[in-house]
Amino acid sequence: MKRRINLSEVTVKEPIKVDTEIQPSILELPEGEVIPASPFKLHVEVRKKSVGYEVSGRIEGEVELRCSRCLKRFSERINKDFCYEIMPTSELTGGEIKKGDLDVKFSDESILDLAEVVQEQILLNLPVKPICGEECREVSFSVGEAPVESSGDDRWSKLKELRDKLREKEK
Ligand SMILES: [Zn+2]
Repeated sequence: MKRRINLSEVTVKEPIKVDTEIQPSILELPEGEVIPASPFKLHVEVRKKSVGYEVSGRIEGEVELRCSRCLKRFSERINKDFCYEIMPTSELTGGEIKKGDLDVKFSDESILDLAEVVQEQILLNLPVKPICGEECREVSFSVGEAPVESSGDDRWSKLKELRDKLREKEK
């Protein structure tokens, strides 16, 4: 399976197209937070431009995340088209940020590491607050930021005790 593209082999006339699979074991992702659960399919095309290169393609795979609400692990499919440009660092102009600069990567490296491409795309497409499913999503909307543990907190048992005492008096 192809792991690298040598950018110097890309000519204006001939873009390089690669279909490959990146094994989860070679992806470097935040440990314990994002676990790649399957090999990632990568389709990538690299085109030479008058300055720099255009990189576009698609990643497909699955990661395991931890729910930010209930801490349960769940898997999330990632299916994403991407497109960005690689520009030589000489194009970096005194910190001036132009519109659309977010999709430009400045690099002078002549090798495009495909595992890195997949890593970056996974990280770019992760939810800021991973939620495991509809149930947790509904809880998060109705209770707001209250932690899930509050349902087991002892304020409730004290209330219940009071209520039980009152009921006894009523008898
Ligand atoms: Zn959850």
